[in-house]
Amino acid sequence: MKLLVDRLTTTPTAFEFEAGSSWWRTAIPSQQDLPRELAEPLRLVLRAHRMGEDICIEGEVHGSLELECGRCLARYRHRLREPLRLVLEPAGDRVPADPEGAEALARDGLCLGEDLEAGWYRGSEIQLGSLTREVVSLALPVKPLCREECPGLCPVCGSDLATESCGCREVPVHSPFAALAALRGGRTDADRQGATKVRKRKQRGET
Ligand SMILES: [Zn+2]
Ligand SMILES: [Zn+2]
Repeated sequence: MKLLVDRLTTTPTAFEFEAGSSWWRTAIPSQQDLPRELAEPLRLVLRAHRMGEDICIEGEVHGSLELECGRCLARYRHRLREPLRLVLEPAGDRVPADPEGAEALARDGLCLGEDLEAGWYRGSEIQLGSLTREVVSLALPVKPLCREECPGLCPVCGSDLATESCGCREVPVHSPFAALAALRGGRTDADRQGATKVRKRKQRGET
């Protein structure tokens, strides 16, 4: 996954790269909270051209990863189709302020700005691995959902509400309405008699 700077002209050139799970595992730092496996290889579909000394890259990252739904906890396949557009300036003699940026510039020939829309390049080869990883990690949802309308798990009994109707939902046990519903005839006559007997015994001091 690299661009050869000398091959680029003012006319956009199309590139396509593919990277699988083995690449992905080496690309993501272990402390990062990202899925370890790709469900499908990532595909980079790019066009790149020169604008004077600058290099303009645009295109899309396609892929799919297995995520866990934040509501129902099921694993699902999350599809990505993330646009990307950035302009790279030659770094020249400049040194990135942060050590990570300086390291990336030396290693990849590419140092990215905060917003992934600009950066610096150095040398004749630009490695696109870190850029791809950044695009993917920013594109992943903070709260993944298997589908927008996923009803999630029942907060009372834990049933998956997409496939089961447990009945807890109509009268949530912990709500004040549940207590009211019980007072308004939710109890059986036997319950009531039992309660009365206990009260009477209490009054007589038998308990
Ligand atoms: Zn779900
Ligand atoms: Zn339930």
